[in-house]
Amino acid sequence: MTPMQALRGTRDILPDETPLWQWVEATARELLYRAAYREIRPPLLEQTGLFERGIGEATDVVGKEMYTFEDRGGRSITLRPEITAGLARAVNEHSLMSQGSVLRLWHVGPAFRYERPQAGRQRQFHQLDVELVGSADPRADVEVIAIATTLLQTLGLKSLTMDLNSVGNGDDRQRYRDALVDFLTPHKADLDSDSQSRLDTNPLRILDSKNERTQAIVQTAPNLLDYLAADSQRHFDRVQQGLTDLGIAYQLNPRLVRGLDYYTHTAFEIQSADLGAQATVCGGGRYDGLMAQLGGPSTPAIGWAIGLERLTLLLKQLNVEPSTAMDVYVVSRGEAAEGKALNIAQTLRQVGLAVEMDLSGSAFGKQFKRADRSRAVLCVIVGEAEAEQGIMQLKWLGSGEQVALSQASLGAAAAELKHKIAAVRQAS
Ligand code: ATP
Ligand code: MG
Repeated sequence: MTPMQALRGTRDILPDETPLWQWVEATARELLYRAAYREIRPPLLEQTGLFERGIGEATDVVGKEMYTFEDRGGRSITLRPEITAGLARAVNEHSLMSQGSVLRLWHVGPAFRYERPQAGRQRQFHQLDVELVGSADPRADVEVIAIATTLLQTLGLKSLTMDLNSVGNGDDRQRYRDALVDFLTPHKADLDSDSQSRLDTNPLRILDSKNERTQAIVQTAPNLLDYLAADSQRHFDRVQQGLTDLGIAYQLNPRLVRGLDYYTHTAFEIQSADLGAQATVCGGGRYDGLMAQLGGPSTPAIGWAIGLERLTLLLKQLNVEPSTAMDVYVVSRGEAAEGKALNIAQTLRQVGLAVEMDLSGSAFGKQFKRADRSRAVLCVIVGEAEAEQGIMQLKWLGSGEQVALSQASLGAAAAELKHKIAAVRQAS
């Protein structure tokens, strides 16, 4: 029988990768906490209609990429292809917004899209999602974008670029859409086939077609930024001013429209040249139309999603490796000693030390080798003689210095050991 394998486009995140993921998540959690964002955990399954209404049937995501199935009760269910729509539903459903307040939310978890798997593109992938609901103020746009750039910077990513655009309000978009269709219709035969069908359904998406011939045509198309009404222009000016004041670099890209229909005003994407074809690490924007589209009160909002597979790929390229070193490695041999070792490990963990215990029962030499590999600072040794005398040996693995300590005094000495371990690690 051939061994079972994970589904195409899904991946196990293995124990040697999880430290990186945990570090990214912990860094994000800390930063978001300090910016007053609160975590929300919605389900992965939603009614299909949520995404049809909240993303739009003319988008690739809804049109081609969703994992949709009928459940045993005959309902149409979809594994979420992104996080925003579910959060918007939850905000409406639980009336999380009170009049005049803002709501700052984040969530991290898997999303599902039926796409052709390749580096940085999977069928089950993970997004970190941040949303600020209830403010139409351009400062909200700046705040949300700054959180993304700060996070990426804190993680050590430097060679990133940000594209910025405004798609205006619904009226601006409609006027631009008409102008774009007028411009493109005479070129219809020269467009790629996807773009030809988008001419009726979602013409703005033609702007970011990857097809070369389409791109050449689109280069001379009307500029979306010329179609912004005065209010929209003012909003966009303030966003740009705010970013500049914070020292956040960006370039205007009038062809950046993003795939989702509910976006209004600000749209942005953060890319890395080190990711090949899947260059976009973070995509986001304002979606003032979404809440009402889902049947709730009209509520402005802005947010973004970072793709964690792409982010961790970048960090791996930079050789970022969060430490998985243990503080203490406990070796023991002989029945009495092994019992004591369990107690010692327990005591040391209680003061907050990371302790790994060797369970092999093999010769001390082999256990010491594993102690070195664990990159522990301290090795605690209990042999038969130590067990008999009620002591243990403390071996500082860096210097080789070894001292005896009585088992009875370990409790009292543990806190001091912890300090010393921290000092040794600091010095190395
Ligand atoms: P792309 O143009 O690469 O398909 P997108 O516009 O479909 O991206 P969004 O819907 O904006 O992506 O999702 C936000 C982020 O989630 C993306 O910038 C990317 O980092 C990540 N992402 C999207 N789809 C996938 C996928 N199939 N596999 C891995 N990451 C993904
Ligand atoms: Mg996509």
